[in-house]
Amino acid sequence: MNYRSTRDNKITVTSAKAIAQGISEEGGLFVPENLPKLTKDDIMSLCGKSYKDRAFEIFRRYLTDFTDEEIRYCVDGAYSTKNFDTDNISEISHLMTGTYILELWHGPTCAFKDMALQILPYLLNVSAKKVIDGKQIAILVATSGDTGKAALEGFKDVKGTSITVFYPEDGVSDMQKRQMTTQEGNNVNVCAVKGNFDDCQNGVKAIFTDNELKKQLDDMNITFSSANSINWGRLSPQIVYYISVYASLVESGDIEYGEKINIVVPTGNFGNILAAYYAKEMGIPVNKLICASNSNNVLTDFINTGVYDRNRHFYTTISPSMDILISSNLERLLYHLTNGDDKQIAEWFGKLAKDGKYEVTDAVKAKLGEIFYAGWCDDDATKSAIKQAFDEYSYLMDTHTGVAYKVYSAYKAATGDNTKTVIASTANPYKFGKAVYEAVGGDTAGLDEFTIIEKLEQHTGTTMPAPLAATRTKPVRFTGSVDKAGMPKVVLDFLKSR
Ligand SMILES: *Cc1c(COP(=O)(O)O)cnc(C)c1O
Repeated sequence: MNYRSTRDNKITVTSAKAIAQGISEEGGLFVPENLPKLTKDDIMSLCGKSYKDRAFEIFRRYLTDFTDEEIRYCVDGAYSTKNFDTDNISEISHLMTGTYILELWHGPTCAFKDMALQILPYLLNVSAKKVIDGKQIAILVATSGDTGKAALEGFKDVKGTSITVFYPEDGVSDMQKRQMTTQEGNNVNVCAVKGNFDDCQNGVKAIFTDNELKKQLDDMNITFSSANSINWGRLSPQIVYYISVYASLVESGDIEYGEKINIVVPTGNFGNILAAYYAKEMGIPVNKLICASNSNNVLTDFINTGVYDRNRHFYTTISPSMDILISSNLERLLYHLTNGDDKQIAEWFGKLAKDGKYEVTDAVKAKLGEIFYAGWCDDDATKSAIKQAFDEYSYLMDTHTGVAYKVYSAYKAATGDNTKTVIASTANPYKFGKAVYEAVGGDTAGLDEFTIIEKLEQHTGTTMPAPLAATRTKPVRFTGSVDKAGMPKVVLDFLKSR
């Protein structure tokens, strides 16, 4: 199977090239030429299999230029109990009859990004051997919190790679900062940037396109690569858990094969919900994909009106990983919904870059409405949803999952739809302990992060996961802070010192 650029159908590459390169040269994203289809037998044969074996079956259909041994190496390295606190890799919790929480945060950083970032280094390693033989890979990441830590854990001590992460000095939670500055490993580098997330991201983009720097790297036999969610190597692992959860629910007798389910996803960059769309297109029976946003509700408006307009107020919310006004992966969905109309995609995303706005055709609007339901809620509604789930079902959820739960509750009330439903839970509640403790009625005034967490444990009878607890005593290794202009030097000094 080959991969095409969303902005130029003439550009086709192998999966190894798509993964090693990350993004197509003219700015398009790589998408599979055609989606592999799963028959009833295919899906039934996944029942009773481990997560690793399910992942293996699904990757084989996408990474056709990888050998079975290479796929095994990737899957076995990533999805082991060395990295995850459960053999199942993701867990299913029953909230109420017919409503399931798919917990995607049992990995080393307690957020769903581990599901992809644990395997990406392996995929990248194998891909690099095929297409850029012998070069060292230098990963650069700009993070608003979760991605940076998950990438650091994924790439730490992986041979042939190094990683530098930039985060906005005042733009991440205390826990997120501790997680990153105490990072272990011999090939990792973390630096704060005096600015916001956009400054970090623009700084990284500037490094990627700095030809002088590129030449210096060439001399050191190093090439830059990216771990952000437009890389096919990050998206494809996310398809696995949506297929896997369906097989698990059939296996447990909660659903019968063929029964449709709803999938609710708290959405930012549109990566996670796009993976659910791919699972549906591959043959998982889905009724609605429910796209849940916080106050940055650009996607809600888009799905409901067909107009994407990023010219609006940017809110800083208690679900910060969804504080995004440009959802990059939407480009892939629109490519599929226009049946691969590369000219149209190039035009719309050109408009987005220029005016911050575009409008899709009536045909695409109709398809969006068929496949998706979209809703949003603000911080207060998120907190009351967390409280309600805890009071009624003794289930403690994080703020992002709270948004999804709130939007789903509103959907159900509005439509009366009783279809069994899977809610993607994207972070452990202790990752956002302050907001979660406030949601369940706690007073956090004047308290530090760890005191709040102790109180949250006492109040709810739950415990903080071990990887977060460990950050309390780990020494801080990275204290550097630069302005945007200083970022290239940080990268170069680090690479030279290795
Ligand atoms: C990244 C993230 C999201 C948003 O996922 P997208 O794939 O960007 O839509 C939601 N919740 C958490 C906790 C995240 O870290």
